[in-house]
Amino acid sequence: MFLQVWMLAISLFSYGCGSGSSGGDDTTGPRGVREGGLGTPVSLSLQDPTCQKSSTALVLQDGPIDRSYTGEGLYQGLELKIFKKHFSLLIEAKDQSNISDIRVCRDRSGVRADTVEGATIKVLDDVKAANQFYRKTAENGSSTTPLSLNMFPLYEQYVKVEVDPDFVEEGQPSEIEQGGYVTDNAAWTYSTDENGVDRYSMIFFPKSKELAKKGWFNGKGLWEVPFVARHEFGHHVFSEYMKNTDAFSSLSSWYRKKNSYLPLGTISGNGAIERSMLLARMGTSSQREAMWVAINEGFADLFAYLSMGGNDQLADFSCFSKNRQLSEGKFHDGRYKSVTDLVLNEFFTEEESSNPLALAVEEEASCQSYSLRDPHIIGAMIAHGILKILSDDDDLEELSVRTFKWISSLKDYGANYSQKDGSELLSYVVSKAVAVVSQEDDSAATLIKLTDKVNKYFPFSGGMKEIRNSN
Ligand SMILES: [Zn+2]
Repeated sequence: MFLQVWMLAISLFSYGCGSGSSGGDDTTGPRGVREGGLGTPVSLSLQDPTCQKSSTALVLQDGPIDRSYTGEGLYQGLELKIFKKHFSLLIEAKDQSNISDIRVCRDRSGVRADTVEGATIKVLDDVKAANQFYRKTAENGSSTTPLSLNMFPLYEQYVKVEVDPDFVEEGQPSEIEQGGYVTDNAAWTYSTDENGVDRYSMIFFPKSKELAKKGWFNGKGLWEVPFVARHEFGHHVFSEYMKNTDAFSSLSSWYRKKNSYLPLGTISGNGAIERSMLLARMGTSSQREAMWVAINEGFADLFAYLSMGGNDQLADFSCFSKNRQLSEGKFHDGRYKSVTDLVLNEFFTEEESSNPLALAVEEEASCQSYSLRDPHIIGAMIAHGILKILSDDDDLEELSVRTFKWISSLKDYGANYSQKDGSELLSYVVSKAVAVVSQEDDSAATLIKLTDKVNKYFPFSGGMKEIRNSN
């Protein structure tokens, strides 16, 4: 009932399968795998455990979320065999049937915030408000496809790799198994069930003991931060616009591939093998798909910001301030949110990147540090630039209407999707934002202003020349 293999799972942070050393002190999951876990999950408790057993009690739901549940014993795994003449990959997701609806037997005002029920209600409220904003503002936002909410699943990811002994570097094992619980994250997922019916869900993973101790997220749970639930719902809105396009289906298959191969990059000792495998299998489409992921992230941030009335409440929020704040033109280290050739080269690089969350558990990584290979960071640059192009002043309603016009106009891209590379895709997306404004006002002054903004926020070469030279 819970998980089919996710076609698309987009999380708040990029994470992989661990850094190769062991995670927290009690991270053994249903598979019994200890290596590479992110942290030790700390789940909230239920306020009314007996209520959960009552089949007549109300299941928590509201707005577009038609069902909420919690569970443990879930896992998603990859088993990969790499042999000279034989390459096989098995992705499996198991429902351990330990899933239950979250029910309430009392008035919502009597539910404590620091319980599973209270955290669920907080997320329901934020998503409902964001959905009202969407339906009120977007031209075609009259209905929303329902989605479910999964709170604090004890969810284990594992990867098992078996490699031809001839490929293995000396002193390295030919069989590796890594895994651990996913913590400190939130995600939006899309899958199809056994009847081919589309399913959507939003997930809040537990906090980890390790990051909480380090004071990440100001010690808060991510469900307590309105921006987070609204960002995840922003992915849902993005899918409402894009789901029937070539771009979306191509993104799904690419995501599955990437999700399958990336964990290999974190497995110590076999880096050379997995790297060449990954590149061979991903092919040339990867830059374009990576850019779509970044655009999706940028839209989700922009949506969250607009749905909160232009105040994302992130100014004092340690791990999000500046880097993910829409109104901020610079990252924490002073770098401008401006997509240059250098930024794109770094984003598209095919070299391995580290896993910030796993590093944070293991080492003294700062939650403010960022990587240009992270689609959330490129997304933050795109969101900031699009926001500046779409509106000059603080007219939030105008900005919101134009944002939905812009995202709606991206659907056309489906037809010649396969012909563009990553930077051409970004050029296209930026040119659509420029078009939204110039269609309303094509005066010379406005066109000059738009060109200046493109030059300032998207100064990479390539396709952008068209926009710059058109005026
Ligand atoms: Zn996201």
